[in-house]
Amino acid sequence: MNNFTSHGLSDIEVHTLLAQEYERQNNTVSLIASENLASTQIRHSQSSVFTNKYAEGYPGKRYYGGCEIADKLELLCQERACKLFDAKYANVQPHSGSQANMAVFNALLNPGDTILGMDLSAGGHLSHGSHINFSGKVYKSIAYGLNEKELIDMDQVKRLALEHKPKMIIAGTSAYSKIIDWQLFREIADEIGAIFLADIAHVAGLIAAKQYPNPVNIADVLTSTTHKTLKGPRGGIILTNHENIFKKINKGIFPGIQGGPLMHVIASKAICFHDAISEEYQTYISNVLANNKAICNELSKNFDIVSGGSDTHLCIVKLADCTGKEAEAWLANHGIIVNKNMIPNDTNSPFETSGIRIGTPSCTSRGFGVEECIQLAKYITKIIQNQNQVSETIKQEVISLCKKYPIEQYLD
Ligand SMILES: *Cc1c(COP(=O)(O)O)cnc(C)c1O
Repeated sequence: MNNFTSHGLSDIEVHTLLAQEYERQNNTVSLIASENLASTQIRHSQSSVFTNKYAEGYPGKRYYGGCEIADKLELLCQERACKLFDAKYANVQPHSGSQANMAVFNALLNPGDTILGMDLSAGGHLSHGSHINFSGKVYKSIAYGLNEKELIDMDQVKRLALEHKPKMIIAGTSAYSKIIDWQLFREIADEIGAIFLADIAHVAGLIAAKQYPNPVNIADVLTSTTHKTLKGPRGGIILTNHENIFKKINKGIFPGIQGGPLMHVIASKAICFHDAISEEYQTYISNVLANNKAICNELSKNFDIVSGGSDTHLCIVKLADCTGKEAEAWLANHGIIVNKNMIPNDTNSPFETSGIRIGTPSCTSRGFGVEECIQLAKYITKIIQNQNQVSETIKQEVISLCKKYPIEQYLD
């Protein structure tokens, strides 16, 4: 089917795996909330000759020769990031969302300083102070969680802030379906003179499309990924409106924690920021939200949803009769890919869990609409109710849905 040699690709072993992964993605539906489908343009720009270029430093201040085009590219990318998020300054070099956070901590904190972030099991991210991550090893980390309504417990945030006087407060989630009150975090940070970091990794696309509040004028600094709802290449960015913070952050990235920037990925980020400012992209995000609402509503007929519902691109589903690990495996047997997820007061371990996380950025990118999403939610319900019995009918129906909405070829 794929003629590798016509593309100059002679490593049959690797290219067999590329072909297999394309088939896997094309024949299954990803409802993993942090995944998306990057456009052909975004993928191709990452294989450009910029992968050959070393450009340590920043535009106009590089440690290597031959950076004149790289300078133009990075400046263009920064400009587009600032325009998209209405920010004054952007660092587009972080290799990932975790690197972006590490750079901010490295730039603005000293080892041993106290940070206040959301607990991983409540929906926060590893890099917000988890004890198994650098953020919880290098810094003294305190964690907040959800209240009895399963919303971020802002009273607890305030109490912990006053008690521990963290140097930085972090807001931003990986598995939380409601809208974060950025302003309330700001007020608490101001009360104790803390730095406020908003990590928008998951909701960046929603913010770009103006369908989620933008914290750019509220937080001191923003970090994000570019590959989740933003639909760009795998990578990170840091935004701020403060020149003094920007200068520190630049040093925090290079020479702080990274060497040469991935200029080929910066090319793709520039394309991503340009794409995300379009009306087409705003429609895409509206569809992501509508699709998630449809799945969430349908699932809520048979399952409890954490926080009582969703205002974003994802929802966390509580499972009564099986673990998240089991549900994840049963769904995968039918071509529906999700991830297991902790629920509030989970009695199962992070490897088992009592929930699954579901999100619609990826299936929306391949063209699924509300009707298909309701259908998917019905399959999910049935598959979980059937326990480990495989339904050949559902399996075939999922494949037909995939065939109706193929993903772009990996080589073209
Ligand atoms: C995904 C995510 C990150 C980390 O991104 P990586 O690119 O996987 O390192 C950081 N913060 C939050 C809130 C995230 O959801």
